Amino acid sequence: MEKTSLEPDSSIVFKPVLKANAEAILKVAQGSLLVLDRELRIISGNKDFYIHSHLSPKVIEKQFLRDVFTYEMGFEQLLHTIITGKKQSDSSTIILNNLSVKKQFDISIGRLDLEAGEILLLINFKNSSTGPLTGSKRTFTKGLNDILSHAPAAICTLRGPKHIFELANERYINLVGKTNILGKEVRQVLPEVENQSFFEILDKVYSTGNPFVGNEIPIKLDVGEEEPRLSYLDFVYHPTRSSGGEVDGIFVHAIDVTEQVLARKKVEESEKQLRTFINTAPVILWLTNKDGYSPFLNKNWMDYTGQSEQQVKNYGWLDAIHPNDKERAETSFIEANRNRQSYRTTYRLLTKAGNYRWMIARGVPNYTSDGTYKGMIGTVVDVHEDKIKEQLLREKEHRIRSIVEEATVATALYTGREMKIELANDAMIQLWGKDRSVVGKTLREALPELEGQPFYGLLDKVFTTGETYWGKEDRVELNIENELKSGYFSFTYKPLRNEKGQIYGILNMALDVSEMVESKNLLKESESRFRQMADLMPEKVAKSDVNGEPIYFNQNWIQYSGLSFEELKIHGVMDLIHPEEKEEFVRRWNASLATGNRFEMEFRCRNAEGKYKWHLSRGEAMRNEDGIINRWIATTTEIQKIKEEEKRKEDFLKMVSHELKTPVTSIKGYVQLLLSLLNNSKTTDISSLPLKPSLERIDHQIVRLTRLISEMLDLSRLEENKLELRKETFNLNKLVDQTVQDITYTNTQHEIEVFHDFNCNIHADKDRIGQVLINFVTNAIKYSPENRKVEIYIREIEKGFVNVCVKDRGIGIEEKDHKRIFKRFYRVGTKSEETYSGFGIGLYLAKEIIHRHEGSITVKSKLGKGSEFGFNLSVAAKDQES
Ligand code: ADP
Repeated sequence: MEKTSLEPDSSIVFKPVLKANAEAILKVAQGSLLVLDRELRIISGNKDFYIHSHLSPKVIEKQFLRDVFTYEMGFEQLLHTIITGKKQSDSSTIILNNLSVKKQFDISIGRLDLEAGEILLLINFKNSSTGPLTGSKRTFTKGLNDILSHAPAAICTLRGPKHIFELANERYINLVGKTNILGKEVRQVLPEVENQSFFEILDKVYSTGNPFVGNEIPIKLDVGEEEPRLSYLDFVYHPTRSSGGEVDGIFVHAIDVTEQVLARKKVEESEKQLRTFINTAPVILWLTNKDGYSPFLNKNWMDYTGQSEQQVKNYGWLDAIHPNDKERAETSFIEANRNRQSYRTTYRLLTKAGNYRWMIARGVPNYTSDGTYKGMIGTVVDVHEDKIKEQLLREKEHRIRSIVEEATVATALYTGREMKIELANDAMIQLWGKDRSVVGKTLREALPELEGQPFYGLLDKVFTTGETYWGKEDRVELNIENELKSGYFSFTYKPLRNEKGQIYGILNMALDVSEMVESKNLLKESESRFRQMADLMPEKVAKSDVNGEPIYFNQNWIQYSGLSFEELKIHGVMDLIHPEEKEEFVRRWNASLATGNRFEMEFRCRNAEGKYKWHLSRGEAMRNEDGIINRWIATTTEIQKIKEEEKRKEDFLKMVSHELKTPVTSIKGYVQLLLSLLNNSKTTDISSLPLKPSLERIDHQIVRLTRLISEMLDLSRLEENKLELRKETFNLNKLVDQTVQDITYTNTQHEIEVFHDFNCNIHADKDRIGQVLINFVTNAIKYSPENRKVEIYIREIEKGFVNVCVKDRGIGIEEKDHKRIFKRFYRVGTKSEETYSGFGIGLYLAKEIIHRHEGSITVKSKLGKGSEFGFNLSVAAKDQES
């Protein structure tokens, strides 16, 4: 075999069709590839080939294959069968043997038919082992088809200005969806592409010789389906040139990126949708990358803050936050991002309008589906109103707290329907009689003694209805130091509402009014006691206002006057006053009303029966704390009896003077008479003078005088309680006899008979009992001027008791006077007063004496029929025994 120089023959020029196709193939070929013409001259190799063979294009291009490689004799034969078309492809081995390398390659050979009978031989180097040469049966065609069919791209070559298909691989055929395209014009094969600007680009590449690279260019191809198919292509239109350098075709290399584009478009679409959503969402949304930088903050942020998208970047959003909140906002976000934790913070954000509003920012870590941390995602929400409300509420609560704590009024705050004691000031705790431990408990736990009292029910009602309850002087029983004590309280239960207007608790303020209520009750009590007393009092009590208008009359007034309260009120007491005193009454009463001075007057007042009785009335002004008169209170006492007694006293005095005057005048007369008789009869015999009767008269008068004087002495003694009894035991019958004897001595006109039915001794004051007897007998004589028979009976009325009774047949005494005659100075009737001399104290003394002997006085009398006066006494002990 002839070996030629390795210098390439520069005169050799490959036909453009060979050259262009070779270049296009080499560009897309996988593995090591060498392209030859039909003379077995090397046109070119691809990058892979040159790397593996350590050959350079300069050295081998335009060389014959046999000048570069060593191969067996039969190899050229094999190549000829392929070139002549007897075989499409085959495989073999060849050896590269040069200065730097000795390598054996497995190769496959194939023939590529080009237009106008031109062919290219393609040698694909399968390996680069240096092992022993071994044969391989793989054919070249197979290899070439492999190259083209395995190429990831759709490839074709177009020839001439009309872009006639010269070569197309299967992917290309599939892409365009047409068959039998080789040798046909592009416009003919793909009429649907007209107006999709591809033909224009092809024309331009062809005419300018500048390649065109298209990225993701959509193309609609009629693939025999209903609708033309939309595909996206990354493609190259590369011009091929003839040996003269003229553009003679276009190599088309296209990659179908439809799926990719559609997928991306889908993502883009959904992202676009998301963005629109995010931008239209009513909140601020943000995303950060894993370093915390914001690649995204939705439009709301910009609208809100007026910041531009540029300003927001690289933590620029922090500039819109209130200086006082900025650090907190920043650190909380950085912390959360570093720890990949969710976070929540509040801050004031400067709005476009220039004012700060409270915002709440929340964020959560954002992961991809495969769990890679992408950054944070979150929201920023305006909570200004809520925050302000919360602040106000907190302030309000603070205010309530301080009100409660500082209030001097007992104050407590209960929350919830269960009435938990949230707050209670010292005053309230003291009022409850508890200690601080009650705070936090429910009212039922703290004050169980309220069970059964109305307060739990009241509180529940306030909680339900929201209506404040005012307690006025309500009675509360509280357990204070283990003792149930009652007090009176004025208090309020006021519902407390939250910002939504719901009731969450009750404010209780209480005032201890126990003292006030108790004193009021006392006042009421004393008032009613006063009325009771006023009614019980013998006095007539009346009250009037400051002008003298009557406002009250006690029962006595009503009873006495026989008028109703209303009648009394209308007419007053004035109408009842005796005409003689009326004028004076009016004068004095008005004077008192005018001056406030005490009113005092005696007057006669008409009773229910129309009779006037003497009364003493006293009126006092009652003043309030300031000394101003607000009431008059008048007591009116009946003094009729006193008046009568007074009158009797007056009469008595008149009488005493009269009574004393009579015996003294009489004694004086007799003494003067006797003296004159004696003076005139110095010579006369005394015995002839009427001495005896005169002296008897004088004696009688002296006895009378003595009695009068001793009675008066006894009276004063009795009044001063100085009447002493000198008791002795003596025979009563003897005393009676003696007394009668003494009396008959001076009273000769009356016949006194004593009946000793019973004889006994008594232990008593003999003189005093004698005095009683004298009084009874002298009265019997005095008041029986007509029938002069007096009888005295001494009888045993029952065992141990003696009765002495003096009976006359005189004037007698009316029944109604039976009691009165024993009173001091009382004498029956006016007539007898003048007719019969006397003081009216004899019977009074008799009664007192007998009472002091534990005895009793009896009287039986009928007017005009005579009287029986007697006394009962116990007999002396000795007598009783006998
Ligand atoms: P006097 O000094 O007036 O007799 P007394 O106290 O002894 O006082 O009696 C009181 C009055 O009782 C008398 O004034 C008289 O009216 C009445 N009296 C007493 N004794 C009799 C009697 N035996 N018969 C009628 N009247 C009598």
